[in-house]
Amino acid sequence: MSERRLDDRRAIVTGGASGIGLACARELAAQGAHVVVADRDEEAARRAAEEVGGEAWVVDLSATEALDDLSLEADIVVNNAGIQRVSPIEEFDPADFRLIQDLMLVAPFLLIRAALPGMYARGWGRIINLSSVHGLRASPFKSAYVAAKHGLEGLSKVTALEGGPHGVTSNCVNPGYVRTPLVEKQIGDQARAHGIPESEVVEKVMLTEAAVKRLVEPSEVASLVSWLASDDAGMVTGASYTMDGGWSAR
Ligand code: NAD
Repeated sequence: MSERRLDDRRAIVTGGASGIGLACARELAAQGAHVVVADRDEEAARRAAEEVGGEAWVVDLSATEALDDLSLEADIVVNNAGIQRVSPIEEFDPADFRLIQDLMLVAPFLLIRAALPGMYARGWGRIINLSSVHGLRASPFKSAYVAAKHGLEGLSKVTALEGGPHGVTSNCVNPGYVRTPLVEKQIGDQARAHGIPESEVVEKVMLTEAAVKRLVEPSEVASLVSWLASDDAGMVTGASYTMDGGWSAR
């Protein structure tokens, strides 16, 4: 049996009740970490926490003012909770744009801010930000998402520079399209925005740029996250690791 590399670590995974977050919660727990599943979906968060032997933190991370004075005890923070809205800019609902910045940029900032003092005191920490190929590249109709993910890339790099002397690393993980409920929900919206049938969306919109023509599996992303959380990755910081089947190689 291989060694468990995260024994005695405490991890917080936002959006840990579904998709990539749930896969991360499972993998970090399998590697020995105590996992806090932070999610607004109470039932799913409790189910996930029970499955991984961790605990649930039921929280709406888009209500960011409630997080201003937060203090977090965590060795590993995985900023993963996210949503998507697909619409041309001129029709994009301003409230949706703000919601996406709050959930996917302001909340990660506040969680990092809340966790760093404890990490600095212990001289060890891992911030792992679920960005996207859309943190590095743009696509039409995703102004809020692309803007938030590009912002997250900047936040991650600044965290890396400030955290380095304290044993804290910060990195982004940048998947292409992953087989999760978030992507399944997008297929109808993409079909309407591009004026094509739903059956053609995966091949003609999602996988056009990728050299490997399949969706990423959540467990593949979780495996990279778990490595970034390990001691082996101590010299990896301020980086953005693509897992996009070659999309961003173009
Ligand atoms: P998902 O929809 O399967 O899961 C997202 C989770 O976040 C859910 O459990 C949901 O309840 C939770 N959540 C949503 N809003 C919340 C809020 N306000 N407060 C607390 N929790 C909230 O999504 P996923 O596909 O697993 O995506 C996870 C992350 O990975 C996102 O940041 C997404 O942008 C990123 N990502 C996904 C893909 C993909 O193709 N699925 C690709 C690249 C990056």
